Amino acid sequence: MNYQILDREAFLNTVRGDRLPREDDLVLTFDDGLADHHEHVLPELADRGLWGLFYVPAGPYLDDVVLDVHRTHALLGAHGGAAISEALTDIVTESMIPEEHREQFESVVYESQDNQTAVERAKRILNYYIDDGVRSDVLDALEVRLFDDPLQPEDIYLSESEIENLVDAGMHVGSHSVTHTVMSKLSPDDQQWELTKSFDFLSDLLGGLPIRSYCHPYGGAHSYTDETITLLENTGCLFGFDVDSRPITASVLQNERHRLPRYDCNEFRYGDATVSLG
Ligand SMILES: [Zn+2]
Repeated sequence: MNYQILDREAFLNTVRGDRLPREDDLVLTFDDGLADHHEHVLPELADRGLWGLFYVPAGPYLDDVVLDVHRTHALLGAHGGAAISEALTDIVTESMIPEEHREQFESVVYESQDNQTAVERAKRILNYYIDDGVRSDVLDALEVRLFDDPLQPEDIYLSESEIENLVDAGMHVGSHSVTHTVMSKLSPDDQQWELTKSFDFLSDLLGGLPIRSYCHPYGGAHSYTDETITLLENTGCLFGFDVDSRPITASVLQNERHRLPRYDCNEFRYGDATVSLG
């Protein structure tokens, strides 16, 4: 099929229920607020007269940190799954992995990605199983062992003025939480904090946020809860994206507007990412 990239207005009309979705509709989304999105994606879209939706986590700006998800990515990218998995065996003790996390996530995560086993093991441990209170310490220990010069926030994320540039160029920018953690591991109060803080950050930076949208960190039904959806509705969020290999149909728009399914780039011929972030 030949897809047509919807213009911004047609997409928003579709989400609002004023236009029926078509089978050949397509929009492009870019997660995690990476500097690459300004350096490479924006000029490519501009050359073609296209737009996209960009999902930015607020943590790097509010706390001047590299988020754990990206520290994990950098470690795996630089050293490979086998080295990280081996180092984790030394560093992580059983007491750092609560049994309920292991049970909650073991069968559901990374089902559809053809990862090397060691990469998968490392990502399971660092993204899902590990006690949230010790993850940063474990990453510190990995970085001390494996990196002379750990990543700095300004090396990988969009600057605040680059986020403004995206909006000025007609792109849509939405929330991707503050810390990019697995929301289903958080209490409703902590989830509320992630949403409020991240929308406030974007609204303050951009002088208002006429259309609020959200993208679930990691994605997949296991990564958020019914409370997440209710909180999104209550915060005036118009729509949200999940990762789920289905098209957005009229009934999806009616019933699942805050978890719209998206295809993962890894599923496409030229979309292979060695390490998918979610
Ligand atoms: Zn993400």
